[in-house]
Amino acid sequence: MEPLDRSTIWPYRDGEPGEFYYQRYAHPTGVEAERALGKLEGGEALLFPSGSAAITALVLAELAPGQTVALAEGAYYGTGALFTSLERWGLRFVEFDQTGPPAAGADLVWLEAPSNPFLTMPDLEAAAAHPGRVVVDSTAATPVYLRPLEHGADYVVHSATKYLGGHHDLLLGAVVCRDADSAARLREFRGRTGIVATPDSAWLLLRSLKTLRPRLERQTETASDLAARLQRLDAVETVRYPGFGGLLSFDVRGDARRVETSLNLIANATSLGGVDTVLESRSRWEGGRVPDNLLRLSVGLEDADELWSDLEQAIANA
Ligand SMILES: *Cc1c(COP(=O)(O)O)cnc(C)c1O
Repeated sequence: MEPLDRSTIWPYRDGEPGEFYYQRYAHPTGVEAERALGKLEGGEALLFPSGSAAITALVLAELAPGQTVALAEGAYYGTGALFTSLERWGLRFVEFDQTGPPAAGADLVWLEAPSNPFLTMPDLEAAAAHPGRVVVDSTAATPVYLRPLEHGADYVVHSATKYLGGHHDLLLGAVVCRDADSAARLREFRGRTGIVATPDSAWLLLRSLKTLRPRLERQTETASDLAARLQRLDAVETVRYPGFGGLLSFDVRGDARRVETSLNLIANATSLGGVDTVLESRSRWEGGRVPDNLLRLSVGLEDADELWSDLEQAIANA
């Protein structure tokens, strides 16, 4: 493995700061992890302490008070909640259906591929034709299934806490920039504000990226299988699955909370993208924004038949 360097300072050389001198500006483990992620996305990656920190830094660095974000309707609940809390600093946002063209007049278009938990895919071509800059939160797609910068996006955002990290043991976020000027601006802002990821989480990301593709391929295989089996169940009304990745959601006939508490193998927990399968009712967090019988399932690496047995018996208790 690449070394984990926790230093906060590095000596000047011949009286001058070198590439690394103070951890807030840059650290070697972070730079290594950014290089690896940048290569996967085809851009310049910057790490942040969480996905939410990455989103916060990007909108504060790139927008001025009074500017507007067109946010994909049904995108990650926390993104809208975060934008709402930034409204008192002058951020404005409107929601739109990301399967069509973005709201006119927006300065920044915010897409999610696929949206969490509705699993819609954005119309990337329509967004690229919009005059505003385009961000794709590609947390659930990962660079294994989508490289948004190749489809005209200016920025890719990740909650690396999810698939990139993949083991439910690190909190991390990233912004990948298409052009070097934006990356330099954002890096400057990050250093000034101190919204900086630790060497430890960067090191864990480096470890995780080595298995990203086989994890995702296996998760896709199992999730496709489970989605097809759920579709055939009378006790399930709707199954949402984009055809790739490990994330799906479905609506049960009956009480979603009873499904949660009937699980044996699958953990009743939040988050997604890890090697362990988790399931939860999203109305707990999102209220009336989602159907109250919607369950979100993030498929891990366990045996597909064992996962199915657990799901089937839990749904029978709905
Ligand atoms: C979890 C998540 C986030 C927020 O990331 P954190 O690492 O929890 O701060 C942002 N976008 C999507 C799509 C997510 O699933």
